[in-house]
Parts: sequence; structure tokens; C-alpha cells
Amino acid sequence: MYDGIVQDLIDEFGRLPGIGPKSAQRIAFHILQTQNFDVSRLASLLSEVREKVRFCEVCGNITEQVRCGICSDARRDQAIICVVEEPKDVVAIERTRQFRGLYHVLGGAISPIDGIGPDDLSIPALMRRLSAATEDGGVQVKEVIIATDPNLEGEATAAYLSRLLTSIEVPVSRLASGLPVGGDLEFADEVTLGRAFEGRRIVD
Ligand SMILES: [Zn+2]
Repeated sequence: MYDGIVQDLIDEFGRLPGIGPKSAQRIAFHILQTQNFDVSRLASLLSEVREKVRFCEVCGNITEQVRCGICSDARRDQAIICVVEEPKDVVAIERTRQFRGLYHVLGGAISPIDGIGPDDLSIPALMRRLSAATEDGGVQVKEVIIATDPNLEGEATAAYLSRLLTSIEVPVSRLASGLPVGGDLEFADEVTLGRAFEGRRIVD
């Protein structure tokens, strides 16, 4: 234990995901000892990000506008919606350059152990979005691609969504296998993820 604010800083870093006590200590001392470390830039970025970044009103992706760049891009195919867990998955799929449709970001996956159910995710919003598209004479959605993580929670979420989506008669597809099981979509390399996209199958 260190005295006063140094320990406060270490504790604060330690609360961040993926940062253990040792890393927290290393980061704190890096900041303390590096003369040219731009503390004020980091501080202002932290508050700016909080102030300016929000979730797209259509898809839930992060953006500094009301709608994200993908939803406001008229060249994207409005008839295909790819459902992912997190904004980082959008980035991973965009990197493959295989997909030109729109996204829907759930904000996580169904996980009974963590007390996360369908209503804690933007699943109701997805259903509203799909029915609104049909009712308002908007673009009819021709395919919903479920691209949740290839792990237990992701599979549970995909199964739940597929069942739910049969009620509105929209074709649903899943990414082809080949993705590392138990992993995160974002960690799949571009080629593997791209192939999984190309080889996606309609769920019956
Ligand atoms: Zn959006």
C-alpha cells in the first residue's frame, strides 16, 4: 500500500476491466515517472469522451452524432441488418470489408448467471426497428445476420433471437463455423471472420 493519492490512483486503475493490481501499479508509476506524459490531454479526453460520445439512436453503435456514420450512409444496404453484441464487434466486421449492410448493437449477451435477460439488451428495440421498417413503408428487411460471439452467452443469445425472429418472418442467418469457439468475435482475424460472413447460413 502506498500513501494517499498514489494508492487512490492505483485503486482507480485497478477497477478498470482487464487491469490487475500489478498493471494498475505499473500504469500509475509510468504516469508519475514519465516527465513528458501528457496528463492534461488524457484528463481532457476522458471527460470529452463522457460528454460527447453517445449511442446511435438507430443501431446502438457509439457515435458523436445522433446517428452513427454507418446508419447515415445512404450507400449501405438498408435491407440487411447484422446483430452484434458490442460496438467493438462492428469495428471487427467493418475491418473485413465483407459487409455493406447496417448493424444492431445489443449491448451485451444473454447471461442468466450475470442476471442479464433479453430486456436488459436492445432486443425490444431490434423488434421495434424491424416492424417499423415494414409498417412505415420503409425498406423491407431481407435478412438478419446474427453475429454474436462464439461462446456460451453468444450462442444462447443467438438461439433466443432466432426463435423470436421467426415470429416476424424475416430470414435469419448465422455466421459459418470456423470462428474459434469460446472466443470473442473481435479476436478473430479478418480472413476467418470474412469467411464466416461469406459462408453464413439461413437458420431454419
Ligand atoms: Zn447507427
